[in-house]
Amino acid sequence: MRRCHECLMAESKPGVELDEDGVCPACRRAADRSGVDYDDRFNQLEALAEKYRRKDGQYDCIIPVSGGKDSYYQTHVMAEELEMNPLLVAVKDSYSRTAAGEHNIRNLREQFNCDLITVEMGIETERKMTRAAFEGELGYPIWATERAIQCVPLQMAINFDIPFIIYGENVSWEYGGVLEADEEPYSAMSMVENNVAEPVEMEYWLDYGLSAEELNMIEYPSIDEIESSQLEPVFLSYFQPWDGYDNYQLAKRYGFRDLSGEWDRAGYIDDFDQIDTIGYLINYFLKYVKLGFGRTTDVVGYWRRSDHFDLSRSEARALIEANDHKLDQTILDDFLEFAGYTDREFWEIVEEHKNDELFEGSFLSGPIPKPENDFENFD
Ligand SMILES: [Zn+2]
Repeated sequence: MRRCHECLMAESKPGVELDEDGVCPACRRAADRSGVDYDDRFNQLEALAEKYRRKDGQYDCIIPVSGGKDSYYQTHVMAEELEMNPLLVAVKDSYSRTAAGEHNIRNLREQFNCDLITVEMGIETERKMTRAAFEGELGYPIWATERAIQCVPLQMAINFDIPFIIYGENVSWEYGGVLEADEEPYSAMSMVENNVAEPVEMEYWLDYGLSAEELNMIEYPSIDEIESSQLEPVFLSYFQPWDGYDNYQLAKRYGFRDLSGEWDRAGYIDDFDQIDTIGYLINYFLKYVKLGFGRTTDVVGYWRRSDHFDLSRSEARALIEANDHKLDQTILDDFLEFAGYTDREFWEIVEEHKNDELFEGSFLSGPIPKPENDFENFD
C-alpha cells in the first residue's frame, strides 16, 4: 500500500492518486493555497451575507453543527463577524455522549445565544439501520446517521425557507477525495447534487425490514425541490483558510472542552477532534478494515499540512504504525450495546468486510492484523 510522501495518506482512499513525486492531491492543493486572495474571498462572503440577510426577523442562514470545534468556528464567523442570525441544526446519534460533547453543544448555544434544532431518529429505526448498514454490502454501520446529517439541514432549509446554508470545510478538496471540479468551488451545490444522486437505493433498507416511514431522515429533497427553493449551500473553507487547529483554539476561547482528563482514547493521537459521541467512532475502525488506514492516518495528514505541528515524516510514520489498527474498548462496547451484537458476532461481520487485497491476517482471533506492504514506496 503506497502512501503520500508528504502527508502519508494511503492510496487506497477513493480519489487519492499520487503524482510522479508520490504526492497526493490534498498536499498539492495545500501548496497552491498561498496564492489565494482570501481578503477578496471574504468580501465575497460578506456580499452573500448581505444578499441573504433578513429584515423580517427570520433566520438568515442555517449552520449544520455537531458541537465540535468547527461548529464554533462556523458560528463565530456567521453570528459574530457577519452579525447574522443563524439557525443551528444538529443531528444527534443514539450512542453515549462524552461529558465534553454534552458540554460543548450546550455551550455553543450559551456563547452565541443561537437557536438550535436537534433532530434525533427513533431509536429502533436507527438501530435497524445501523445493523443493515453494517451487515449488508455497505459495511459501514453509521452510514444512515451520516446521511441524516447531510439530509436534515437541507430539509430544514426548504421547509423553513432559509436558503443560505453554511457548511464547514470542503472535505474532498481539503483532505483529498473524489472531486467534481478542478477549481475550488465556493458553492456546495455540486456536492449536494452528487449526494442526492448517490446510488444506494431505498430498496436496500426496505429489504432489511425497514418501512418507508422510517426513512424520512435519510431522504434527500428532490433536485426539483432543491432548485425551486433556490438553495445557496456554501463551504466556509473557500472564503477563509481552513485549519482545524485554529478552529480548536478559537473554540477554546469560547469555553470548548477537549477530552483531556476525561478519556484517553486508544488509537487516537489527539483529544479535540471527533469527541462528541463514543460508539459512533466505530466508523474509523471499519474504514481501517476496508481501506487499510485508520483515524491516525487522517490526523497525521492534517498535522503534516498544518503550520502548528512540526511532525517529521518518520515520526508521522511511527504514530501510524503504533495507532492506526487499534480499536478502543470503550468505543467497541458502546457500539455493541447500541447495535445489539455480541463481541463474536461483531468480529465475524468485520471479517466479511475485510479488504482481502490489503490484509492476509484474520480479524477473528489474535492481534488485529496490519495491512501487508504498508509504506511500500517508503525507504
Ligand atoms: Zn498528501
